[in-house]
Amino acid sequence: MRGTRGPDDDKPARHTSRSRGVAESKLRRDGRHCPVCLKALPRIAGKGLARKCTSCEAQPEPARRCARCHEEAIWETNIKAACQACGNHGSKLRVVAGALTEES
Ligand SMILES: [Zn+2]
Ligand SMILES: [Zn+2]
Repeated sequence: MRGTRGPDDDKPARHTSRSRGVAESKLRRDGRHCPVCLKALPRIAGKGLARKCTSCEAQPEPARRCARCHEEAIWETNIKAACQACGNHGSKLRVVAGALTEES
């Protein structure tokens, strides 16, 4: 006897990756994640969130300004930097205002 039809409904599983860029930008700016590598910042008992990323060793550089939004919200590592205010990120030369052109 025939009639063994396989189930017709093997739809491909859908992953919603449309808003990935937006989600990343949010993480960068929420203050709870490292803006450079997006790792969640560790909590220190009694002190709140760590001000240094344990993954990429980025830390806030209060004297630096963002080349895009001019906020003093830069986190940087040896080679990379990111702005916690607008989500701008990349090499230091592109993110930190004044790193590329010398102003005096
Ligand atoms: Zn990091
Ligand atoms: Zn910025």
